[in-house]
Order: sequence, then C-alpha cells, then structure tokens
Amino acid sequence: MAGLLLALAPLLLGWGAHLPQSLSTLDDPRIDRDRLLHHLSVLAHDSMEGRRTGSPQNEQARQYLLQTLDELGLPEVNGDREHSFQFTNNRDGQEYTGVNVLGMVQGTGAPDEFLVVTAHYDHLGVVDGEIFNGADDNGSGTAALLELARYFVEHPPEHSILFVFFDAEEMGLQGARAFINDPPVPLDQFLMNINLDMVSRNEADELYAVGTYHYPFLTPLVEEVAEGAALHLLRGHDAPDLPPGDDWTMASDHGPFHERGVPFIYFGVEDHPGYHHPSDTFENITPDFYHRAAETILEFILVADRAGASLRVFRDSGEE
Ligand SMILES: [Zn+2]
Repeated sequence: MAGLLLALAPLLLGWGAHLPQSLSTLDDPRIDRDRLLHHLSVLAHDSMEGRRTGSPQNEQARQYLLQTLDELGLPEVNGDREHSFQFTNNRDGQEYTGVNVLGMVQGTGAPDEFLVVTAHYDHLGVVDGEIFNGADDNGSGTAALLELARYFVEHPPEHSILFVFFDAEEMGLQGARAFINDPPVPLDQFLMNINLDMVSRNEADELYAVGTYHYPFLTPLVEEVAEGAALHLLRGHDAPDLPPGDDWTMASDHGPFHERGVPFIYFGVEDHPGYHHPSDTFENITPDFYHRAAETILEFILVADRAGASLRVFRDSGEE
C-alpha cells in the first residue's frame, strides 16, 4: 500500500498543482476556522494576562505553543524546541530572559534552503491594573502560525520552512534580534522571512503585504496572491519618505532580518482603536477577515515555495 502511494505521489502532486485556487469563496478552506479561533481565544484569554515577557503567564502561553506543536508533530530544530536569550529592556533598565519557540518542516526538494515564517507571542501584560490581552497583537499571528505549521506538516513544501514564535517583540524586537544573531542554520540559507503581526482585525477587509519597496522582485508574488485572494491584499507602508509611523519597515520582527539583508514580507493590518489598548480582545477581532487573512498568507507561502529558486537568484545577484 505504501509502495503504491509512493508511486502515485508525483502524479497526484503534478495534477493537484494545476487545479484552480478557489480562495475567493473559501469553499474549501485549507486552514480550519474553528481551530484557528480556538487557539486565539486561549492566547488572548484573561488568564494569560497579556503574555508579558518574563511573566508566569508568558510561560503559560509558551507551554500552550509547545504542547500544540508536539501534538501536530512539528519537528524540533537541531534537537531544540526553545531558544532562550538575555537582554536589557531599555524602557525599565531591567534584565530579562526571553524564550523563542521553534520548529521546522524539511523541504522535499531543497532542504538546505529555508523560508522563515514568524510571529511574536508576547504582549504588554497588565498595565495600571488593566489586562492588555493582545488578541490581534499578536495572538492572531501566533494562532495562525500554529495552523500554518499544521498545514505544512501534512503537506511538505519543496523548501524547508522554519516556524519561529518570537518572545519580547514588545520590548524592542528582542526575540528576532537574538534569533538573527544566533541562527540555527547559516543566514545565507534563508530565502526570506514571512512575518505575521496583527492579522485578525479589519472592517475594510484590507491586509497589507509590506516589503516590496525594498525587495521589488517579490512584487509579482504578492500580486499573484492578491489576484486570487478573498480580501484586499495591499502593498505599501515600506517607503522611507512616508510620514513618521507609516513606514513599517522596522515596526516588527521582520526588521532585524531586513537589517541583515534577508528579504521579507510582513503581513499586518492598519492600526485600529484596540492597538496597544485593553480593548484588543478576542471579542473585538473580525473572525471572517482573520480566517481569510490566514488563507491568504498560506497561499503566499505556497507561492514563495514554488518561486524559491528565483528568490535565491535575486539574493545572490544582490538585486534589491
Ligand atoms: Zn505586535
């Protein structure tokens, strides 16, 4: 039976690749909506107290990630599931220990080349007695990353994919900085970073794909996904001549990748009234939009995986 399946696999894969995408209807979603929302409801629950780095509740959120990744069978990276690091938080002058969580799916065709898909799981914690739940920021990217990992465990990509849940983003992109300074594989094996931060709350059905200003060779990939997407996938928020705050080039964990020349696309929404506010709760997200955003990001990863070889050519040529 196994032999027969193996013999059929190339045929099935080749045929499947030509099937039209039906993203516009989400008739046949590849990401399970209920599971996605369940993860987010757990991460943004009051009992997580806003997942502040160094707190017991941050540890509790991390345990949820570790347990879920074990359940869905995402392999560890060089025998490790956690990567801890020390840093000083400039805002309070205190020393902290942060812990990134990671896993990897090995590529079937080019296992030594990596897409690095990331989301930070920490948030602000409790401030002046109020819980900052951080549902959109960034329970949403974290929960989506769990289900993206599940998809690729079940449907192995051609290139390897590293999934990294960063800690201490809110204290200055600390998890991403620690990761890029001590990567589990050499940086020149990274094809690109795909970062998710705030992908669940938008009334206008608008999701931004940020980064093509710096890496124009990624524009056709974003446009290809935008054409079939079940939401408005927009480019922008990445040019240096924008008003202060509107250039998101260094706004989240893709920043340290960019500083080291690793191309990135960052997926996120416009700021909303819940941004860094106690009203960033599970009840206030836009569930249908969130599910569509997760499907759209999955489609982008699939497109990037197919384009992997050309990504490498662009990188090696030094073109930006
Ligand atoms: Zn964030």
